[in-house]
Amino acid sequence: MARITIRVEPRHADNSPCDHAVKPSGKPRDPASGCTGRTAYAVVCSEHGDVGGPHHIKQLAAPAATEHRQEHRAALAAR
Ligand SMILES: [Zn+2]
Ligand SMILES: [Zn+2]
Repeated sequence: MARITIRVEPRHADNSPCDHAVKPSGKPRDPASGCTGRTAYAVVCSEHGDVGGPHHIKQLAAPAATEHRQEHRAALAAR
């Protein structure tokens, strides 16, 4: 079976992924990059897509990603 990957993806206000370089404040480092700034962090699972709603701070997204990873591990162990 395919390996499942779960990651935290930064998002812009319109929910598009942000892969721009940003300052610690979340504001774009390069004003010409077209980046509108990071406003949320989504937990993205390769099997389920977005897991739950976006988190407004990264510190909350990381535990949600860990929790989802553990759910997968538990599901595998139950088989
Ligand atoms: Zn961006
Ligand atoms: Zn999943």
